[in-house]
Amino acid sequence: MTGPSATFGFRDVDASEKAGLVRGVFDRVARRYDLMNDLMSGGVHRLWKDAVAARLNPQPGETILDVAGGTGDMARRFARMARRAQERRGGPDARVFVIDYNAEMIAAGRERGFEPEMAWAVGDAQRLPLPDACADAYVISFGIRNVTDISAALREARRVLKPGGRFLCLEFSRPTTEALRKLYDAYSFKVIPEIGARVAGDRDSYQYLVESIRRFPDQRRFAAMMGEAGFSRAGFTNYTGGVAALHTGWAI
Ligand code: SAM
Repeated sequence: MTGPSATFGFRDVDASEKAGLVRGVFDRVARRYDLMNDLMSGGVHRLWKDAVAARLNPQPGETILDVAGGTGDMARRFARMARRAQERRGGPDARVFVIDYNAEMIAAGRERGFEPEMAWAVGDAQRLPLPDACADAYVISFGIRNVTDISAALREARRVLKPGGRFLCLEFSRPTTEALRKLYDAYSFKVIPEIGARVAGDRDSYQYLVESIRRFPDQRRFAAMMGEAGFSRAGFTNYTGGVAALHTGWAI
């Protein structure tokens, strides 16, 4: 390695290589991405995502960013919830932007259909194509562990949020008990790559996804990184015993 290093699953790679490697993974999984999420999690990822949307509580007139938004699974929820609130109370339309650096994921999402409040853009979480203080909320779901420089992405989230804007990050995390950790390790290292091989014909991409979860900072460390990036009241809520966690904070 010649430059600074980054993790790619359990491998250490040159930081300049990571984005291309991750993009390759999502190019390969894009067409089967939503189906695979349902199969791998037994549908539980939908409950986690619903819980995040309820916590965000999207409102009419808000500008909401779904960064590393992939096929727009979160953004659809936000757009529908904001519209329901608008039907009850009136107000301007919400705007929900799906931003992802992988055009294949965006194409797969657009084919699935979308809501009128949604717009799509190709962009990197570390250098968002957006002005300062333009968003009421920034959400990143199962995306940040794939980013080469997580601290840079957090600072960028802080930059684009208005003062008082909300930051929400849903990510796989660290199970809170040893028993659950063992069970989860066995499932993720034995079963998930096998499902990837059989359903998507791609064991390696799913092996990367599982390994990248293990390399991601645990709940407390990630909350500390949010504080270092300038978020106030950084905290987290564990889902399913810490298999996933929602981190929240406020831009000040
Ligand atoms: N947020 C969606 C969801 O919850 O279903 C998609 C999550 S998918 C596991 C991770 C996404 O992060 C991929 O679509 C990938 O292209 C995107 N991604 C990875 N690194 C990125 C970066 N630096 N900037 C923007 N998107 C990125």
